[in-house]
Amino acid sequence: MEKVDLKNFTLQGLEKYIAGVGKERFRAKQIFKWLYQLDALSFAEMTNISKEFRNSLAETATISNLVPEVVESSADGTSKYLFRLADGNAVEAVLIPDEGRNTLCISSQVGCAMGCAFCLTGTFGIIRDLTTAEIVNQVCAVKRDHPVRNIVFMGMGEPLANLSAVVPAVQILTDPDGFQFSNRKVTVSTSGLVPEMAELGRSVVVNLAVSLNATTDEVRDRIMPVNRRYPLKELLAACKEFPLPSRRWITVEYVMIRDLNDSLEDAKRLVRHISNFPSKVNLIPFNEHGSCDFRTPTQETIDRFHKYLLDKHVTVITRSSRGGDISAACGQLKGKLDEERGRRAAAAAESAEAAA
Ligand code: SAH
Ligand code: SF4
Repeated sequence: MEKVDLKNFTLQGLEKYIAGVGKERFRAKQIFKWLYQLDALSFAEMTNISKEFRNSLAETATISNLVPEVVESSADGTSKYLFRLADGNAVEAVLIPDEGRNTLCISSQVGCAMGCAFCLTGTFGIIRDLTTAEIVNQVCAVKRDHPVRNIVFMGMGEPLANLSAVVPAVQILTDPDGFQFSNRKVTVSTSGLVPEMAELGRSVVVNLAVSLNATTDEVRDRIMPVNRRYPLKELLAACKEFPLPSRRWITVEYVMIRDLNDSLEDAKRLVRHISNFPSKVNLIPFNEHGSCDFRTPTQETIDRFHKYLLDKHVTVITRSSRGGDISAACGQLKGKLDEERGRRAAAAAESAEAAA
């Protein structure tokens, strides 16, 4: 019989499991703390639990872990972690340091199905969803090296396409008996899956970031295929409906691409679009990579756009790109997807040969 991985459980799930094996509920809290506050990797470490119970747990349950295969450090202090998963796939997480307020950017899928034209991850398609355990284990692993203040689901994948793993992961991250991140410190980013935005809001209290990236349906259709399903009007309505705690905002991400979405007309439309809900705009100058022809706007264009928003009293930051020299910047994560693509192509060629 296959053992259950305790790191796939929320506290509630763990309580059910513990009750199911005939033990007291409060044991679940103890185990949860061992996993996420004390980083236990074995039952043997859980010394406030009887040896007998620990042994019986070990017969039906396991504690998974991720060890980075490679950690690359950027000149600006950013670190990129490559994690090899049990099935051979790989994902990346990026730690962006900021004087005691480190932000960890984690992945939710191997690859991504959304196919945004500007995103390197997107060009590889989707391989599979991550499990809850694979999501939280990225955090466990990086926390061994660095303190982490903020968590953003902005690595590989579309988190809202994997809600069944992402929601429990957010619960574990924000649980007072789990990682203990304040829900103000955890942000889920989406390309605009409208029904899932509502479902996320119903399921957990968490910050939402929306990758808007265009101000007309014509342009957004072209660079983000999801817009053909959920056009701007529906997306903006979903932002307005999203249940925000008081004094919070939606982060509107806007990747600036030269001559495509960087005009003052765009800035004007952007201000109008976000006027119906509290927001902060993150301008992200497009990070160039080999898989598409888009270019970064000139600094002057970026500054002009930024200033227009400021003048209209929009809260805006231009996100300085970090980790570009190690391909750790937004939209540059690919894990080992290029390797995987190579493997698949070789396998396809082989089977074609065999069939001939
Ligand atoms: N799938 C989610 C989260 C991961 S992408 C989403 O799309 O929101 C994280 C951010 O990187 C998104 O805002 C996306 O628009 C941005 N991004 C993707 N490719 C980029 C690139 N080449 N340069 C700059 N930002 C990019
Ligand atoms: Fe996927 Fe986000 Fe990249 Fe679009 S930008 S392809 S949704 S990871």
